[in-house]
Amino acid sequence: MESEIRKCTKCGKEQPIIEYYKSESGRRGYACWCKSCYSKKARERYEKNAEEYKKDKNEYNKQHRKERSEYQRNYRRSDYAKEKISEYNKAYAERHPGRIKEYKMRYGTYRKRARYFGVEYEHIDRLSIFVRDKNKCQLCGRRIQVINKNKDNAAHLDHIIPLSQGGHHIESNVQALCRKCNVKKHNKMTGQLRLCYEDIS
Ligand SMILES: [Zn+2]
Ligand SMILES: [Zn+2]
Repeated sequence: MESEIRKCTKCGKEQPIIEYYKSESGRRGYACWCKSCYSKKARERYEKNAEEYKKDKNEYNKQHRKERSEYQRNYRRSDYAKEKISEYNKAYAERHPGRIKEYKMRYGTYRKRARYFGVEYEHIDRLSIFVRDKNKCQLCGRRIQVINKNKDNAAHLDHIIPLSQGGHHIESNVQALCRKCNVKKHNKMTGQLRLCYEDIS
């Protein structure tokens, strides 16, 4: 049986039966097309449909993105996930001592950074600070804007005395700067501590 030679009805080649897929509906349990004819056909079909497949996949993703993100959100809120995440965080903290603290300090919210540096914290509304400072950079005097963050004149909230040097996160220790000046200033102390509010009317 294994040594049977069969002629492929597609390409016409005569080949040992091992070159044919098993098929219940085929003659004596084997397909009448050879394997390579089948795979060629499959490849052709795939290439013909590849664009369609891709389009379908994108369409599917688009339609399901919302569902998926909701699913992920729910997952993250589950007790199971919380446990996993806290396990992971613990392991990370052990592997990299001090790094999480440093990360929080550098990139965390103002509240976290203030707590980290042991300075005072109060809620500050950025926009009201910009209004107080008349929408002008307190170093170079140019007009600032909040629409385009990438422009040189993008409005930045700056700590006059940096939190890292004992400055507080309070309204009298913040000022409006343009992006350019803030980048230049970095961690140097510039500007005047506001002991009272200017009249903003
Ligand atoms: Zn063939
Ligand atoms: Zn400036």
